[in-house]
Amino acid sequence: MSTRIIKAACPHDCPDTCAMLVTVVDGKATGVRGDPDHPNTAGVLCTKVSRYVERTYHADRLLYPLKRVGRKGEGKFVRITWDDALSEIAERLQAIAVRDARAILPYSYAGTMGAVQGESMAMRFFNRLGASQLDRTICATAGGTGYKYTIGAKMGTDTEQYENAKLILIWGGNPVASNLHFWMKAQEAKRRGAILIAIDPYRSLTAEKCQHHLALLPGTDAALALGLMHLLIRDDLLDHDYIDRYTLGFDELKQRVAEWTPQRTAATCGLAVEQIEMLARLYGEMAKRGDPVAIRLSYGLQRVRGGGMAVRNIACLPALVGAWRHPAGGALLSSGDNYPKRSAQMERPDLRPNDVDRPPRVINMSTIGDDLLRPSSASFGPKIEAVIVYNSNPVAVAPESAKVAQGFAREDLFTVVLEHFQTDTVDYADIVLPATTQLEHADIHASYGHQYIIANNPAIAPLGESKPNTEIFRLLAARMGFSDPCFFDTDEALASQAFDASHPHARDFSWQQVSEQGWMKLNLPAAPFAQGGFPTPSGKCEFYSEQMLRDGLDPLPAYLPPYESVASAPELAKDYPLAMISPPQRNFLNTTFVNVQSLRATEGEPHLDIHPEDAAARGITDGDMVRVFNQRGELHARARVSDAPRKGLVVALSIWWKKLASDGRNANELTSQRLTDMGRAPTFYDVLVQVERAQPS
Ligand code: SF4
Repeated sequence: MSTRIIKAACPHDCPDTCAMLVTVVDGKATGVRGDPDHPNTAGVLCTKVSRYVERTYHADRLLYPLKRVGRKGEGKFVRITWDDALSEIAERLQAIAVRDARAILPYSYAGTMGAVQGESMAMRFFNRLGASQLDRTICATAGGTGYKYTIGAKMGTDTEQYENAKLILIWGGNPVASNLHFWMKAQEAKRRGAILIAIDPYRSLTAEKCQHHLALLPGTDAALALGLMHLLIRDDLLDHDYIDRYTLGFDELKQRVAEWTPQRTAATCGLAVEQIEMLARLYGEMAKRGDPVAIRLSYGLQRVRGGGMAVRNIACLPALVGAWRHPAGGALLSSGDNYPKRSAQMERPDLRPNDVDRPPRVINMSTIGDDLLRPSSASFGPKIEAVIVYNSNPVAVAPESAKVAQGFAREDLFTVVLEHFQTDTVDYADIVLPATTQLEHADIHASYGHQYIIANNPAIAPLGESKPNTEIFRLLAARMGFSDPCFFDTDEALASQAFDASHPHARDFSWQQVSEQGWMKLNLPAAPFAQGGFPTPSGKCEFYSEQMLRDGLDPLPAYLPPYESVASAPELAKDYPLAMISPPQRNFLNTTFVNVQSLRATEGEPHLDIHPEDAAARGITDGDMVRVFNQRGELHARARVSDAPRKGLVVALSIWWKKLASDGRNANELTSQRLTDMGRAPTFYDVLVQVERAQPS
């Protein structure tokens, strides 16, 4: 028997990007575990990815190319050869490209976060083809844009430093479920005496374990940050020296927040004045006496109309109190911009045809429902005739799901899906191509939670006839007659190109070395903004942003109420009086893992958490089947009556495969395609609904 241990990386859309060790016995993977030597992973994987071997060898793995034989959405396919699959795809795409290649759309996101199996060879292919470009907005662009207006780039406190903080605000997220290794640091900080405060409309698993929980109304985080700034200024809990040296626009900010009295803030956020005063006092006084105070922002809070501004406002707080002076102070939304990524080298936008009659066309992935249903027009460009989906499952994850499914059901749409399993989206495919999992291919990873580059070495041979995404696009390029040398790069050659080895952050990076060692930490200062040096246009933390003004936005922190809330849409709220959010289930990662039986069994069935008073008003008792509905659609779920959601809020933990729910639906039946204030992102948590007991069928 030969046993090998392979150094690998978790590929999933999670800030932790764990370093994994894969045990391989006689060519078969028998287990995965967290690498105990990797400082952030510390030997721990989450429950989901601990089942990665079960997922890899799942009986339902797609192992051969398939061609549709049933109606779209029916999921009936027959096996075909790779040769036939590639020929048919190339023929169909060539026929469209002769008319206008912009009628072809790639649709992808973070099914793998790998730099190689993500957008490298795939984007080379679509750029060379001249296809429409995809605006990849579905998760993080609202907050990312807002953070960058204030701080300049997505960077901040090192996750490993949080264990030294004395106060941590966990704002808009549930790290127990979706940022486990940060949570481990926060717990260590708590053991050392730190105070943890959760800011979240829902008493999540995380909020339950914090000393304080502020359950504000969804979509009001921007107002809470304005109210906190008001109090920090009113009570002079400020670091004047830091403000003078390293910030821009304090006087304008002071004027702006003057109107955000504790009373107004409390009324807007649905909190008590005392809670807001307590939070400002703890944050300001602890910072003033030199304790490291840190904020961990998550993406949940930016999935509302004013989500970009909310993150911008929160990002102002550390500079006011001088929290950036300490390695364990400051804030973190994402560490992604620390990496010197060579995106142009990987994706080769220079390959795009320079056709003045067909200027580049960009489609926002968050409005795919509407865009698949649009005819050709001067403003839109050509109707979408083909979609190539990889690393994503839009029929389940995109907002306003009924329209998305209607679009993918178009008989005149040619759809190709690269996948591991027969997802909701695969059911609408014309051709299905079996893709390898992380254990079967090479890759290299940046992280958006820590500061390491992590290598993924292939552990086992591809199962069945599955192929890496890169190989599939290489083969398609050859069929289309693309002979540019870049289409012959191996995966290892691609991994070598991923980061700029001449950049000070990734000095001397080499794929060979990282693949042997498993990871390398970026060269970054412990306290990145201790002496300013913000990567903004002014080099300062920008309370006032000229760039925002140029972009047509309010240059100062502001509050934009949700599209749908009792306060901002009273007419709509007469019919649909409850706010709904749909944050991640602990055992699913977006729609990945929903089909892993052991994990789905733990989650049981789709639930709706509802407050006892809201339930009683509707004659709903714990365990009842309920119908949740609004002007866009409906779904059925099992009611869990508890005070975990605040009154007026219901929570539908996500994201279920539609076909694995009893009514074939998930929370995205109810979400809308309206976009955020900045970053063109979806407003998944900006939703009003009504709930009633379901009629027995
Ligand atoms: S999903 Fe996140 S916590 Fe789980 S193994 Fe992957 S990176 Fe680690």
